[in-house]
Amino acid sequence: MKQSSKRNSRDAHWCCVDCGVNTFETDEYYMVHDAVWRSSGLAQDGGKLCVVCLEARLGRKLTQSDFTLARVNRCIGRYWRHSKRLADRIGEKSLSIVAS
Ligand SMILES: [Zn+2]
Repeated sequence: MKQSSKRNSRDAHWCCVDCGVNTFETDEYYMVHDAVWRSSGLAQDGGKLCVVCLEARLGRKLTQSDFTLARVNRCIGRYWRHSKRLADRIGEKSLSIVAS
């Protein structure tokens, strides 16, 4: 059970590799499809990117289809919160209808 592991918000691995913002604290932790992540130029385990920096690298806005069905993208309020920006890109309204 991954969710029971303690998350340390000060841990450097939460920080965006481009701007240094802590994606845990800004609620911009998410999972995108491998192809999308590859397009960013970062390795799979190359770190985190906030929404703004990932979009800058991609040269476009993220859309709902870029995100996987991973729990971090869906279980809003239970384990993860999403920033307004992330919620907008994920299309949270339609996803929360599916979840309920
Ligand atoms: Zn950033």
